[in-house]
Amino acid sequence: MTEPSVFTRIAAREIPAEIVAETDRVIAFRDIAPKAPLHVVVTPKTGEYADVVALAAGDPGLLAEVIDVARGVAADHGDGQFRLIFNTGAGAGQTVFHVHAHVLAGGLEERGLV
Ligand code: 5GP
Repeated sequence: MTEPSVFTRIAAREIPAEIVAETDRVIAFRDIAPKAPLHVVVTPKTGEYADVVALAAGDPGLLAEVIDVARGVAADHGDGQFRLIFNTGAGAGQTVFHVHAHVLAGGLEERGLV
């Protein structure tokens, strides 16, 4: 059996995190190394899907729930506009192989990107 991922352990309250939203199946918490003024990780509480491609194929309803939680986080903690990033594969920067979305908001105007 594989070890539970860091995100499974956050969902189980075994590792502390700043949790900002939660449903029965999904949890959202602030990234420990934020890349934007708002940077939240949204992830299923259990880690059977390694990445978004596997999640979309295996449980599209759960993927829709992840996206809806991301929408709610961006509305509650910003102006509702956000970037949603699913790093998929080590070569794309994925380090935790428990599917998760990065919700990023803010900071683009200051950097002249919008
Ligand atoms: P990935 O690189 O897999 O797309 O994203 C993993 C993210 O999880 C990274 O942005 C990293 O900072 C974040 N992360 C890793 N370990 C922890 C942790 O223990 N707590 C929190 N809050 N975030 C974490």
